[in-house]
Amino acid sequence: MISDTSFSLSVDETTTEEIVCDLLKSLNVSVVQAAKDSSAESLFRTDSYMKQAVFHRYHTEHEMLRYLRGLADKDLALDRTMIPLGSCTMKLNSTTEMEPVTWPEFSSLHPYVPADESLGIRTVLAELEAMLVEITGYDAVSLQPNAGSQGEFAGLMAIRAYHRSRGDLQRTICLIPSSAHGTNAASAVMAGMSVVVVACDENGNVDVADLTNKADLAGDKLAAIMVTYPSTHGVFEEAISDICDIIHQHGGQVYVDGANLNALVGTAQPGKFGADVSHLNLHKTFCIPHGGGGPGVGPVAVRSHLIPFLPSDPLSPSSGIGPVSAANFGSASICAIPWVYISMMSADGLLQATADAILSANYVARRLNSSYPVLYTGANGTIAHECILNVGEVIKGSGLLIDDIAKRLMDYGLHAPTMSFPVANTLMVEPTESESLAEVDRFCDAMISIRHEIDMVLSGAITAEESVLHHAPHTVEDIAGDWKRSYSRASALYPLAHLRSRSYYPSVSRIDAAYGDRNLVCTCAPIEQYAISLENATVGS
Ligand SMILES: *Cc1c(COP(=O)(O)O)cnc(C)c1O
Repeated sequence: MISDTSFSLSVDETTTEEIVCDLLKSLNVSVVQAAKDSSAESLFRTDSYMKQAVFHRYHTEHEMLRYLRGLADKDLALDRTMIPLGSCTMKLNSTTEMEPVTWPEFSSLHPYVPADESLGIRTVLAELEAMLVEITGYDAVSLQPNAGSQGEFAGLMAIRAYHRSRGDLQRTICLIPSSAHGTNAASAVMAGMSVVVVACDENGNVDVADLTNKADLAGDKLAAIMVTYPSTHGVFEEAISDICDIIHQHGGQVYVDGANLNALVGTAQPGKFGADVSHLNLHKTFCIPHGGGGPGVGPVAVRSHLIPFLPSDPLSPSSGIGPVSAANFGSASICAIPWVYISMMSADGLLQATADAILSANYVARRLNSSYPVLYTGANGTIAHECILNVGEVIKGSGLLIDDIAKRLMDYGLHAPTMSFPVANTLMVEPTESESLAEVDRFCDAMISIRHEIDMVLSGAITAEESVLHHAPHTVEDIAGDWKRSYSRASALYPLAHLRSRSYYPSVSRIDAAYGDRNLVCTCAPIEQYAISLENATVGS
């Protein structure tokens, strides 16, 4: 009820005109049926669609279930293996955390549902904001951005608006270290800034001399720095406070990319060590499942001076910088996941998780260092929550490619780590606190076994082209077919004893890397079938 004479209601796409009319009649509102709009009717689709067999084959629950199971069997997913993607923080998405997403109280609300009809989810959202404020040490959080990159954009827009509010229209230069995630530069450009790249030193840290020099050169044109902490080189940047100071001395703002918060929660707060604004990836550190473009939440967190420049409610966009998403709370329904995660973990549990994540990563680094040198470590030889393995150094001159190692991991029943990011010819491993020692060891054992396979090539015992690595992954089709390889079927299938009980076999062998992405082939009907004759064409069709 808005007033004595008006009320509002929220409906979704399944609500028909009849239902709305019935509701109005029940309230004694006389309904004048809208005249049928014949131009709308002309928009109705009358031809048949979804003609492919797959849409018509499965008509019983049994068949549907088996079809879905068949698809899942092809997938090397978290239900079979750790996914040690560095920088992506692929951790447990527990059933308990996910359950509330299915509740209609969260999942069936329209984004513009009136406040007094959505007290429950608004309480969850407000509490989540407060939890994130406490974790990050910032003064306010907006849950509006739908991805980390959108959070970056929102944060940079806040910085830009802040400078403008002080008459600093010329502050448009954004310094970004070369180790940064690609989204950083893209967001800066979208926010109307010019990117100046800052070098890293041989230890992978921001080169402070280069930073000082570039900040000096930028002078009063300096808008901001975007720095990731801990860095995507997997190391706690020791100079982080100095970096913040240098930027502030030049009147710039400090954006700390908080995607690596899994190494910080409970131990350090970006809002307290010198940053002005950060985004978080709730679909990394805080357990929302991600991958394959799944929904994200990339809240932007700011210190008090930037609060007036947080994204505004799309329903009252005149304040602030305007909205960055069409709904005030972005992907509101999945915010229940981090709320449950943080609530169940409690402060002690979150700190323990951070400690375990860092310990696990250091364990991997130590176990694998003699097989694959760890590219960057901090001053005391340790790393943060992920490590970069210098595979390129190992395979140099062998004729093998880093892809060969990544593909071979599938034969070991493991998902490959992040490959060639942020450094070419490396693998970046992030075990997270969710993986047990047994699973982390399974990964390390596989990597060490693969190192032996690389050594066979390095020693000249077998050529790169003939090696088990070059032909990986091995499908059942491969193994069952004529066998003329220089290695045995058993060494392809069972390089380690425990793999004799494996249940996963890749369903396709290697397709030439990105070739398919660059050379699109249309598998649908020839384009002529879609063409319409000119006489039938109407304007705008
Ligand atoms: C994942 C990530 C981002 C971008 O987040 P999206 O949600 O993928 O847009 C930015 N910076 C770093 C360091 C990341 O790991």
